[in-house]
Amino acid sequence: MNTFQQLGLEEHLLQAITDLGFETPSEVQQKAIPTLLSEENDLVALAQTGTGKTAAFGFPMLQKIDINSRTTQGLILSPTRELCLQITNELKLYGKYCKGLNVTAIYGGASITEQAKNVKRGAQIIVATPGRMKDMISRRLVDISKIDYAVLDEADEMLNMGFFEDIKSILSHTPQEKSTWLFSATMPKEVSIIAKKFMANPTEITVGHKNTGSKNVSHEYYLVGSRDRYAALKRLADANPQIFSVIFCRTKRDTQKVAEKLIEDGYNAGALHGDLSQNQRDLVMKSFRNKQIQMLVATDVAARGIDVDDITHVINYQLPDEIETYTHRSGRTGRAGKSGVSMVIITKSEQRKIKTIEKIIQKAFIKKEVPEGMEICEVQLKALAHKIHDTEINHEIDPYLEEINLLLEDTSKEELIKKFFSVEFTRFFNYYKGAKNLNSPKGNNSESEIRSDDQSARFFINIGKKDGYDWMSLKDFLRDNLGLGQDDVFKVDVKDSFSFFNTETVHMPKVLEFFTDFKQNGRYINVEITEKKERRGQRKFGKQKGGRSRRKDGFRSSGDRGRRKDRNNENSGRSPRRSSDFKPQGSGSSRPRRNRRK
Ligand code: ADP
Ligand code: MG
Repeated sequence: MNTFQQLGLEEHLLQAITDLGFETPSEVQQKAIPTLLSEENDLVALAQTGTGKTAAFGFPMLQKIDINSRTTQGLILSPTRELCLQITNELKLYGKYCKGLNVTAIYGGASITEQAKNVKRGAQIIVATPGRMKDMISRRLVDISKIDYAVLDEADEMLNMGFFEDIKSILSHTPQEKSTWLFSATMPKEVSIIAKKFMANPTEITVGHKNTGSKNVSHEYYLVGSRDRYAALKRLADANPQIFSVIFCRTKRDTQKVAEKLIEDGYNAGALHGDLSQNQRDLVMKSFRNKQIQMLVATDVAARGIDVDDITHVINYQLPDEIETYTHRSGRTGRAGKSGVSMVIITKSEQRKIKTIEKIIQKAFIKKEVPEGMEICEVQLKALAHKIHDTEINHEIDPYLEEINLLLEDTSKEELIKKFFSVEFTRFFNYYKGAKNLNSPKGNNSESEIRSDDQSARFFINIGKKDGYDWMSLKDFLRDNLGLGQDDVFKVDVKDSFSFFNTETVHMPKVLEFFTDFKQNGRYINVEITEKKERRGQRKFGKQKGGRSRRKDGFRSSGDRGRRKDRNNENSGRSPRRSSDFKPQGSGSSRPRRNRRK
């Protein structure tokens, strides 16, 4: 079955498909759509990311529900807000000719009343994240007691994120006789458990090998010393001037740090992780979609399911803890028939993981060398030549040309070209000359790559022993009120009438914001930052000659900002890559701002 018509879809849906420009159904669509249309059965469908799973369940659901009824008939659960919105938007496009269709998205971080209102208006389909859904059920703001279809999208990821209990609880509010459709990229144990538990005799569809990646993706790894990870990342970016990439880190903290470093170093980068506000995440995604951000540094959870085509590179800054996650990561590239590269930066001790991944994806990795400085200079120079060749002349420069021409009157074309390119070349050359080869990991693998101490903020708070606190109870008080985790508040020092404590800098805005207007026993609790982040270790390394402060791990610390000069040090200096601002969109305004909260 090679056309959507043959799959049994109705005319108004086919019309939407034409409008969307979908020509042939993807494999998972070919297999799922006819089955779902013709049977009232449960379904388990395994297909890698980017294979069109949304349409595979979306079209059958749209065809099967009763648009004239305002009862909620379909529920789609998805792991993240981004994904939830993405599915909602897709469904609206699929159903653009379904008059009276109301698809409502339910997710945390936005007004619950607004969402409840949309449901009340008669949402036939609800797309929800489990947390908010559960919340709304308990407040009786939704009624899913009459649904016919429940979809668990990205089931593996929902389970990864610990939504099992929520899913269980949500499904307990749905009728027994509904159909449940489960979609997943991988089939870990947990997913088979859920399939067994919540589904009856499901039809199974597998597209490609289980857990294998896209055939359009090539896999490369780069072996470096653990302190050179960041330098290697920059070189990989510099060696690929057209890069449009997602860079995966293991933790929110590393994600934020790597993104900040890249931004400081002049790259068009942004961070995407769960500690950012919803609004910030939306902004970052918007900038990424319209390519103002070329390097999106993300956690697995935050990046999951994000559907941006054209991603040229996925860079595993660190390998994921769960090897199966690698499939998801690499599935971000090589979409829609395009080719992509998945790069892994590893240290010696991680080499064996590559073998494990190779078994899972059934594909061999290519071991590559981190490009040397001169290779990068060459690549950049050629890229510039192409860019100039392809640049359209902007006639706004006309008024200035006379003066410029006069100045360059005696310069021949050859000479002009040489000079022009020397400007660019010299910048890279100076930066990379004498840069070391990063491919010789003599292996100091235990060295931590990012020292967290320098990334914490110290606060003053005007409560202390007099108010009945000791360090433990103050820590609990802060963690509870700020919604922080076990280790997020540290170095708590309680004095008589005031105290001090530290948090990671990422939490700084949250802390300050929370205490701007916080009263306890009728008294304002006041929190201030006491010291800048440059303390202790910073001082030791900070006051070297020439004002350069360089941390032991090669990451320039944040206290170093205003003092930035052109430096020749690869690890601590601003990358030469963006500093020319040659590209038209490279002006300050289009560069995304630091993704910090407020
Ligand atoms: P998955 O959920 O499997 O990761 P999506 O449903 O997000 O994949 O689809 C990935 C992209 O492919 C989306 O941009 C979608 O619009 C597009 N797409 C889906 N089906 C087709 C098709 N048959 N032809 C062309 N593009 C499609
Ligand atoms: Mg999907």
